[in-house]
Amino acid sequence: MHLDVPSLMLPLGLGYLLFAWQLVLVRRRLAADRALALWTKGCVFLLAGMVGLLSRLVLPEWLSIVVGNPLVLCGMLYFTQAVYLLVGKGPVPRWITALVVASALATPVLLAWPMSVRSMIFSVVLMLLSGALSLHVFRHAWHAESTMRAVALTMLMLSVAHALRALQAGLVPDQYLNFFQSSLGQGIVVLLAFLALLGSGVGFVMASLERTAKNMEFLASHDALTGCLNRRSFDPLFSHEVARSRRSAEPLALLLLDLDHFKQVNDLHGHRSGDLVLQAFARRVQGRLRSADVFARLGGEEFAVLLPSTDLAGAQHVADALCRAVAENPAQLPGGRPFALTVSLGLAMFEPGPANAGPAERGAHSGATAQVSPELLYMRADQALYEAKRQGRNRVAVWREQPLAFEDLVVSA
Ligand code: GH3
Ligand code: MG
Ligand code: MG
Repeated sequence: MHLDVPSLMLPLGLGYLLFAWQLVLVRRRLAADRALALWTKGCVFLLAGMVGLLSRLVLPEWLSIVVGNPLVLCGMLYFTQAVYLLVGKGPVPRWITALVVASALATPVLLAWPMSVRSMIFSVVLMLLSGALSLHVFRHAWHAESTMRAVALTMLMLSVAHALRALQAGLVPDQYLNFFQSSLGQGIVVLLAFLALLGSGVGFVMASLERTAKNMEFLASHDALTGCLNRRSFDPLFSHEVARSRRSAEPLALLLLDLDHFKQVNDLHGHRSGDLVLQAFARRVQGRLRSADVFARLGGEEFAVLLPSTDLAGAQHVADALCRAVAENPAQLPGGRPFALTVSLGLAMFEPGPANAGPAERGAHSGATAQVSPELLYMRADQALYEAKRQGRNRVAVWREQPLAFEDLVVSA
């Protein structure tokens, strides 16, 4: 196989030109994505580096080397920074930055050496850079966004190609007398650089877009202050849990929580303190729930908890524990001052039976009463919450159908 280097350089250069241009255009819409911005810089630097290396066709060779090599190295450093930022497992190791800076500064010094030695050194540096990048993705991002796998694989292949080129330049220096000479190592490196442009470039861009989509999905379904689900995502989940409970004949508990006298926190200590108290409250509740439980902020200082497959005794136990946990652990205001906080809870149960069964099962029970809908269950929990407030707050009230009265569990005086 004959890999003609100048012929391979042309699609590579044009490919980088097109890719960098597209990234510059897409960046205008995704201006906040820093990882994508770094990758774009990497592309622009690599493109400039390639133009620099090819400029020896018209400019003195030394100038093309002094300009081209450092630009290519900086491009690789930007790619590395972009990948480390997206993967999110710490900053780029210092040795990588030091290697790039040292190699770029050493380029003019290396001009005195033959092309084969320069090729060998440059390839060893690029082998280390692409190898480290690939290893980082293999270790930390293989199971994250799946298109990052293309980045790991093409960078690994590029690293191997550079190792072969370095080896060949060391063993057969005659094939490295000038940059455009077609040797196997040189040809494979340019070919792999093209595959890396496609595999790593497209893979990385798709991974960062996937990450952006995931973040946006999270923002749309979660409350920005407390990190728990918002009302928009709670409502369909609530209907789903009621339907599931009906199908599986398992009980479902709904708890509504409302912080007591919360307005005072804002009035006495300011809105920022109020926000911190809300965050501390949400953390405390979240820490006491199972992974299957649903915790949402319905608005202001009102929250809801859904406890699937939980009977009345279990739900009362959870409600008591939450009420106690809040009352016994004061929230911290800015400056470390403690703030005593309490919460009132209303509990309503969905207990599948003849009255709450689906249409097929209901047919068998001629005396069935009206089916409990999510809306009715919510109203019952809300009535219970109102009763807990009426009876003095910092307590749990349970909605009961017969007799029409509330059973109160005073948790703390
Ligand atoms: P009650 O015991 O009867 O529930 O009294 P309350 O003061 O908790 O109830 P009220 O509904 O009168 O006041 C709720 C307050 O919650 C009013 C509002 O200023 C505050 N609030 C709602 N959302 C936020 C928020 O996101 N941050 C802060 N800091 N305060 C909030
Ligand atoms: Mg309220
Ligand atoms: Mg309140």
